[in-house]
Amino acid sequence: MAESRKVKGYCHDNCRLYDPSGELIGLCNMNKLDWYKRKGLGEMIDDKTMKLNFIPNYRKEKTVIDEFRESAGKIGRENICVGCGSSDELSSATLVPKQVKRCYPTDLKRHRSDLIVVLCRECLDDHLYFQDLLKDEILADYGYTKQDIHDKEKLSLKQASRTLLRRSQRADKLRLKGIEEIIKKFFNGIEPSKEELEKNAEIDTYKLYDGKILFEYIIDDIIKKNQFVDFENRCLIHFYKNMEPQFVPTDLHPRFKIIIDLIENEKEMEKEMKEEIA
Ligand SMILES: [Zn+2]
Repeated sequence: MAESRKVKGYCHDNCRLYDPSGELIGLCNMNKLDWYKRKGLGEMIDDKTMKLNFIPNYRKEKTVIDEFRESAGKIGRENICVGCGSSDELSSATLVPKQVKRCYPTDLKRHRSDLIVVLCRECLDDHLYFQDLLKDEILADYGYTKQDIHDKEKLSLKQASRTLLRRSQRADKLRLKGIEEIIKKFFNGIEPSKEELEKNAEIDTYKLYDGKILFEYIIDDIIKKNQFVDFENRCLIHFYKNMEPQFVPTDLHPRFKIIIDLIENEKEMEKEMKEEIA
C-alpha cells in the first residue's frame, strides 16, 4: 500500500520568480529559490521573491501549453488537501498509481502537475485504498491479477533467504523449519552458503511478459493502441468518483475541469432520462 511517498512538511512555498523586465514568471518552492540564490542568478526582493538577472530558456519560445502552465502557476497553490480542505500533514499524491507510472517509457515519465494532488494523511490513506482497486481493474482488463506480477517461487525463495539471514531468537522455531524446507527445495536438499542466501535475498522476482514486467507490458500495449490519454483520464475519473474531492483548484488541474464537467453532464442526462421515464 506504500504507493505514494510521504513528503515531510510538504507544502507549496509559493516563492515568486520575476524576469529581468519585472514580469512574474511563476511560483516555485524554497529549494529552487535557494538554488538560484547560490548560483547568483538573481536578486532577492524579499524572503520569498526573486528577480532573475537572465531570461530563462523556456521563456524564449512559448507554446500554448507553456502559456497555460505559466498562468496556472501564477495563481498560487493553496496549502490544503484537495479532498477535504485540511491543512494538516499534507503529502503529494499521484493520480496514476506509482507502481504503474514507474513503468512509463522515459519520455512520458516527466512531471505533469495536473496529475499530482495534495492530500492530507487521512485522504491519502483512502486514495491509496482506491488506487489499489484501480490497479486490480487495470490488471483485470488484461486478464491478470496482482498474483501475476511476481514469480511466486522466486518470491518465496527471496523472502525465505531474507528471513534466514536475519535468523534471530525472535524467529519461532516452527516457522524457521518451514523456511529451511523452502530453501532446501531450491538447493536440492543441500544447505546453502551465506553468500548464496545473500544473493537470493536480492533476486529480481518479477515475471516477464514479452521481456517486460507486467505493468510495463500493459502500458506498452495501451500506448500502441493510442489509448494513453484515455488511460490517464481513467485514473483521474477513478480518483474523482471515489474520493469526491471538494477542493480541487481546477485552474491548476485543467483535466479535472473537463472530467468534472463530463461527470456532471452524465448525471444531468441520467436525471433527465429518469424523469422522462417517470
Ligand atoms: Zn483530506
